[in-house]
Amino acid sequence: MRKFWLMAMAVMALTVGAQEVICHRGYWDTEGSAQNSIRSLVKADSIGAWGSEFDVWMTADGVLVVNHDASYQGVTIETAKWKQLKDMRLKNGEPLPTLDQMLECGKRLTTRLIVEMKPHKNKEQEKEAARRIVKMVKDKGLEDRVEYITFSYAGMKNLKEMAPLGTPVYYLNGELSPAQLAEIDMAGIDYSIKVMREHPQWIDEAHSLGMKVNVWTVNSDRDMEWCINYGVDFITTNAPERLQQKLAP
Ligand code: MG
Repeated sequence: MRKFWLMAMAVMALTVGAQEVICHRGYWDTEGSAQNSIRSLVKADSIGAWGSEFDVWMTADGVLVVNHDASYQGVTIETAKWKQLKDMRLKNGEPLPTLDQMLECGKRLTTRLIVEMKPHKNKEQEKEAARRIVKMVKDKGLEDRVEYITFSYAGMKNLKEMAPLGTPVYYLNGELSPAQLAEIDMAGIDYSIKVMREHPQWIDEAHSLGMKVNVWTVNSDRDMEWCINYGVDFITTNAPERLQQKLAP
């Protein structure tokens, strides 16, 4: 019986179209790489990942910096000046990257760029970050290669308003249903595996509203298979090659 349902779900998954792999903070868990590094973006592209995600903060003097945490080596990015950060290195030895450098690298690749704007404490600064991110993406001719994600409700609305019409913007925070996000014209949900296991009905709900579903951070075989069987559109993972093997026909 269980086998029957797994097969039925697999058929459902096939009917919703291709399922894609997104590297979480780039493909970092591999030789010579590091989280949110230029190398991790190149590595994600080299394995043919559909997309590569990275996190963006803005310094007090307006420089967009790629890093996951609010601070790097004890310096809080949103209140720091760029000169305090510019000589810092990542674990793989490369300099702490700016968004400018990340996008320049992205121009030479084909993987999609999944830009996460971090929620800043200073909401005016966050709005300015959104403005500068969207402008930089435009100036580099990458508007059709970029999707935005954020935990910030205000940030999500700002990105939607500032980016060209049709640019996908996804919400990460997990408390809003697809129907609530459809009302404000978001592309879909991008929620944790924990949230999605509690609300599996949101997958069909999103699809019936013409929205997409992205789930993070999907690392175990069990979670990967759950996402595949439920027809999740985009699966964000630290183990992209293992996931690719599972998705291979
Ligand atoms: Mg992120």
